[in-house]
Amino acid sequence: MPELPEVETIRRDLIKQVLNKKIKKVIIKKSRLVKNPDNFFIKNLVGNKIVAIDRIGKLIIFVLQNKLYLLTHLKMTGQLIYVKKKMRTVGGHSYKSDPMNYPNKYTYVVIEFADNSNLYFNDMRTFGYMQIVNEKELELIKTKFGIEPLTKNFTFANWEKLFSNKKTNLKALLLNQQLIAGIGNIYADEICFAAKIRPTRQVNKLTKQEVKELFNQTKKIIRQAIAKRGTTFNNYVDTLGRTGNFVKHLQVYGRNNDKCKICQTTIKKIKLAGRGTHFCPQCQV
Ligand SMILES: [Zn+2]
Repeated sequence: MPELPEVETIRRDLIKQVLNKKIKKVIIKKSRLVKNPDNFFIKNLVGNKIVAIDRIGKLIIFVLQNKLYLLTHLKMTGQLIYVKKKMRTVGGHSYKSDPMNYPNKYTYVVIEFADNSNLYFNDMRTFGYMQIVNEKELELIKTKFGIEPLTKNFTFANWEKLFSNKKTNLKALLLNQQLIAGIGNIYADEICFAAKIRPTRQVNKLTKQEVKELFNQTKKIIRQAIAKRGTTFNNYVDTLGRTGNFVKHLQVYGRNNDKCKICQTTIKKIKLAGRGTHFCPQCQV
């Protein structure tokens, strides 16, 4: 699932690609992925422009010129792919211009711009969605997100509050979007490893120093992952279909039965908070 670093990479790319371009045409191929009635969705996008692109947690917020907002959540396998021209013509024959062959059979929404470039919303497992909301609805949605790494609310005082009086395990806390926005399964495991703390630990029993270390490592890992344009483990790609480079830096995630890069102990995988969870039994206490 794309997490904060992947979604932020997409957001930054899209700013360069689609900002201030007039939307010419919208095609919905699977209505279930659009939370509004098809007609409403199309009517409010065609002729409109994306004037800014924001993000909260893993949710992309396209700010539209008509004061509405197009939300896009990629969930498990969603992709936003930008292709400059759908077809190129050579000697009277048309070719798909893109080597990755977009659009494909998982392209469920197409947004076509006045310069003939296209934004494709693909989603193999179809858990993702697009939705147009007004400002009031957006504000309500925003209240459901917790503190987010690399924003001004992400202070140690706010972070520490999340750990007191909670009997849940550390992994579940890190994944809870209503408390901490943007961290998913990959970075939760990497943060625990970097802080040398097992994801199974009960959060109200962590020491202040451990809580501080988790805070520092969260910022560090998220910042590094953004710099490497995210992690491609399954099917994440950026807006041009390219994979993320942080995968080389993963210490535990997806490395079960491999040796720990630090101590050579075999990385263990367990199920925790309903998710596959990886850790080093030697480095993490
Ligand atoms: Zn180790």
